[in-house]
Amino acid sequence: MKPRDREDCLRQFPKLQRWINTCAHCGRQGYQPEMLDEYFHAGIAAHYIRSYFEPLSLQDNGLCPECVCVIFGPKAG
Ligand SMILES: [Zn+2]
Repeated sequence: MKPRDREDCLRQFPKLQRWINTCAHCGRQGYQPEMLDEYFHAGIAAHYIRSYFEPLSLQDNGLCPECVCVIFGPKAG
C-alpha cells in the first residue's frame, strides 16, 4: 500500500525514522544525505523516502542550513 503522506510513510516503514533529520528550529524534515550510498539500494522503503522527503543535512547544532542562515547570518553556514 502506498503511503499517503510523510507520517504515513514513517508509520509503514519505521526503520526509516533513523534516517530522518528534523531541524530543531523550524521542524523541517528530510533524510540524511549520507543514507544514499549505504541504504538506497534497499528497495521500496528507499523509494518512498525519496519521494516523500528531500535530502536534509543538519549542522552540529541541530539546525538546517536555512535556520543557521536566518539565526546566525549568511556567513555562518
Ligand atoms: Zn530549520
